Amino acid sequence: MTRVAVVGAGWSGASCARALFDAGFGVEVFERSKVVGGHSRAEVLDGVVYEPNGAHIFHTSDAVVAEYVQRFGLNRRYGHCVLTEVFLAEDDDRSVLLSWPPQIEELRELPLWPQIERELAALPAEPSGADFATYVISMMGSTLYRLFIEGYTIKQWGRPPSELSSSFAPRRVELRRDGYRRLFRDTWEFFPAQGVNSVIESVLEPVTVNLESMVRLAALDDLAAFDHVVITAPLDEFAGCDGDLEWRGIRMESTVHATAEPAATVTPAYVVNRPSMRVPHTRTVETKHATGQLIDATVVSHEFPGAPARHYPVPTVDGRFESRNRELKTEIATTAPRPVWFCGRLANYQYINQDEAIRQGLDCAARIAAAAAS
Ligand SMILES: Cc1cc2nc3c(=O)[nH]c(=O)nc-3n(C[C@H](O)[C@H](O)[C@H](O)COP(=O)(O)OP(=O)(O)OC[C@H]3O[C@@H](n4cnc5c(N)ncnc54)[C@H](O)[C@@H]3O)c2cc1C
Repeated sequence: MTRVAVVGAGWSGASCARALFDAGFGVEVFERSKVVGGHSRAEVLDGVVYEPNGAHIFHTSDAVVAEYVQRFGLNRRYGHCVLTEVFLAEDDDRSVLLSWPPQIEELRELPLWPQIERELAALPAEPSGADFATYVISMMGSTLYRLFIEGYTIKQWGRPPSELSSSFAPRRVELRRDGYRRLFRDTWEFFPAQGVNSVIESVLEPVTVNLESMVRLAALDDLAAFDHVVITAPLDEFAGCDGDLEWRGIRMESTVHATAEPAATVTPAYVVNRPSMRVPHTRTVETKHATGQLIDATVVSHEFPGAPARHYPVPTVDGRFESRNRELKTEIATTAPRPVWFCGRLANYQYINQDEAIRQGLDCAARIAAAAAS
């Protein structure tokens, strides 16, 4: 029997391991932490389900992945809407809550609308520009950029938006003209009442999982019993050259609040974006809006960027970290004593959603099966 070691028990490692198990491979998972689930995990604070790693809404238009997650119990329908707190004038402490993405019909009600309208009328037919600031201004004009995007981006990335690549703008920034309020346009959108932990645990249910087992390139000889190794870990750390790749991390500061009645919440929405430089955080998250948990309390988390954690790959204009990650793949594949495979957000140095992590896990398993059969 072909044996495969999978490093990491987040969505990508779990779905890869389960697909290999279902295909008759001998599989073991090695996870550094005490629990499975990776970055998408929810936790419980004073009885309230909350998200210590930020809001995680499952959404996909990939029918295979949608069917896959429903098989493991991820099927509670949800429709995610986001608000943004906008300060309309520098010298005014009053703010308004507007939809994210910005909606033309709401913007028409603002005192700044004549200026916004003039800028929109002068936009080019297609947005363009290599850096993020230029691209987004060409997409929505400088007033909307200043109100919704600039401060959020500076706080989120800790560098001027002009130093960031425009490559992630089409995926992250939109101006809505059709009145559609939900953030995602995908066919399937789910939010499990307890978070995704139990779903990922079900995926891994028949697979041997070794918790508190960190695997590094230097120790791959310890996995001599395996024919292949799947790596979903960050490659700079895995290869022993921490710091070669830059990441941007977040820190969630979470507080429990008593509520007057079990269904009550204390903020206006599950996620409220805070683009203003007047506050140091970028978002406020109250997961109870999504779980619908009935309990006389709630948890409100403020998301602070700049923590020393591997959350977001840094998309510089020259793409230098993506290119270093490609080199690391080659170095690891050349040094490793047996075939290695890379999947997931960390090993690929990519921002990917949960459905894409699952898709990468399933595709990686299919590639290993094809290699084993040849
Ligand atoms: C702030 C934020 C918000 C997000 N919101 C959403 C959202 O709303 N919707 C959505 O679909 N996606 C969201 N995502 C993306 C989502 O978190 C990822 O798609 C998902 O976590 C990817 O799973 P993964 O298995 O690739 O990585 P991870 O979940 O990070 O799993 C990797 C696992 O490997 C383990 N590991 C690492 N190194 C080693 C090692 N050397 N040895 C052993 N184990 C190791 C880790 O402990 C971890 O368990 C968000 C991401 C961020 C950063």
